[in-house]
Amino acid sequence: MVLAQLGGSISRAIQQMSNATIIDEKVLNDCLNEINRALLNADVQFQLVRNMQNNIKKIVNIEDLAAGHNKRRIIQQAIFNELCKMLDPGKPSFTPKKGKPSVIMFVGLQGSGKTTTCTKYAYYHQKKGWKPALVCADTFRAGAFDQLKQNATKAKIPFYGSYTESDPVRIAEEGVETFKKENCDLIIVDTSGRHKQEASLFEEMRQVSEATKPDLIVFVMDSSIGQAAFDQAQAFKQSVPVGAVIITKMDGHAKGGGALSAVAATKSPVIFIGTGEHMDEFEVFDVKPFVSRLLGMGDWSGFMDKIHEVVPKEQQPELLQKLSEGNFTLRIMYEQFQNILKMGPIGQVFSMLPGFSAELMPKGHEKESQAKIKRYMTMMDSMTNEELDSSNPKLMNESRIMRIARGSGRHVREVMDMLEEYKRLAKIWSKMKGLKIPTKGDMNMR
Ligand code: GDP
Repeated sequence: MVLAQLGGSISRAIQQMSNATIIDEKVLNDCLNEINRALLNADVQFQLVRNMQNNIKKIVNIEDLAAGHNKRRIIQQAIFNELCKMLDPGKPSFTPKKGKPSVIMFVGLQGSGKTTTCTKYAYYHQKKGWKPALVCADTFRAGAFDQLKQNATKAKIPFYGSYTESDPVRIAEEGVETFKKENCDLIIVDTSGRHKQEASLFEEMRQVSEATKPDLIVFVMDSSIGQAAFDQAQAFKQSVPVGAVIITKMDGHAKGGGALSAVAATKSPVIFIGTGEHMDEFEVFDVKPFVSRLLGMGDWSGFMDKIHEVVPKEQQPELLQKLSEGNFTLRIMYEQFQNILKMGPIGQVFSMLPGFSAELMPKGHEKESQAKIKRYMTMMDSMTNEELDSSNPKLMNESRIMRIARGSGRHVREVMDMLEEYKRLAKIWSKMKGLKIPTKGDMNMR
C-alpha cells in the first residue's frame, strides 16, 4: 500500500526515541531528523518537511517528555496532527446536491487515471441514486472517447462525445447543455491530459472551464508521482480553480509522499482515492482514519465506536480482553460470526485496523458472505470443545477434518476453507496482542 513504508519508518523513529532512558533535546532532534529523512525519502516536498519539523518542535514540550509523560503518545500525536494538517486544507470542497445539476470537471496529466476516475466517480454516485452523465472533452488523445464510451456503457451511464469534432470547448459545452436538459444531476467533464505541463493544455483547460462553468474542478493525481508533484499541482491550481483532489493507484507500491505535497500545493481536500483498476475500487477519503492507519495507530476511535455498535454490550469487555491477549480460537470466530449474522458486518470493525482487508465480507456480496458464514458455523457445530477452544491450528489433523466434514454434511474442501479463514483472522488478531486498547476518555486521535 502506498505510503506504508513511510508509516513504518515514522513509527520506528518514535519507538527508538521512547526507548531512550533520558529524553533530552538531542534525543528529540534525532527522532525528528529520522522522521524528516523518512518524509523526504517518500518524496514529500522539502519545504513542507521543514515546516512540519518546526511546528512539531513548537508544540512538543521537552519538559513534558523528560517528566516521563507518555513520550510516544505525545510525539505521535504531534506528527499525527501535522500530517492531518498537510492533508486537510481546513475547508471542505463543493458538495453536489442530488436532484440539482452540478458540473464537475476533471483535470490531470495523461496516464494519471483521469478517465477511469471520471467513470468511478459517476458509478459511485449512480449507485447512491444520482443521475450522472459523462462528457468526453479530450480530443487530444486518440481513443480517449472510445475508452470513456466503453466504461460508460459498462456502467450504463449516458455519455457525450464526438469522433469528428476537434474543438474540446465546443464538445464540453454541448455535452453539458444536453445533459442539463435531460435533468442529469452530475455532469462530469473529462478533459485532455498531456505528458507534462504545457501552455496549450492549460489554455485549453481554462477555456473548457470558462465555457462549462463547473461547480467543482477535480485534480486527478497518480500516487506514484515523485518530487515534481508539488510544482505540477501548483501549476494546475494557478490555471484553473482546483477545488478537490483524487489520488489514484493507492493500491500500488508507490512512495506516495508526492501526493501529500500536491494536496498542500492545491490547498484542496482529497475527496476520494482510487484503489484498483475496477469501477468499484474507489473509496471516500477521510483524513484522520487514513493518517491513523498510516502511523500504525489503527483507527481506534472508529474501532471502538463500531465495537460498541455491533457487539452486544455484555460481550464487549470480554472481547476487548481477548483482543489484547491475542488469543484467537475457533470459538471466538464462532461467536463473532453469530454477531455478524445478528447485527451486520463485523468486517467493518476489523477493516478499521491496520492490515485487515474485508475479504470475509466483500462489498456488494453480503448475501453470499452470509451464506458462507452460516456454512462455516454448521461445520463448527460438529467440532469438539477442545477443538473450538484451542488456538493451535495443528490440532486439526486429517482425521478430525474428515470427521467434521462427515458430521456437518459438507465437503472436506469446505472444512479446509473454513480453517484457512480462521488462520487468516487469527493472524490479524495476533497483531493486536499486547496492544493497549484505549478507553473512551483516552481516544484523542480523532
Ligand atoms: P488518463 O490518461 O489520465 O485518462 O488515465 P486512464 O484513466 O486511461 O488510466 C491510466 C491507467 O491507470 C489505466 O491502465 C487504468 O486502468 C489505470 N488506473 C487508473 N486508476 C487506477 C487505480 O486506482 N489503481 C490502479 N492499479 N490502476 C489505475
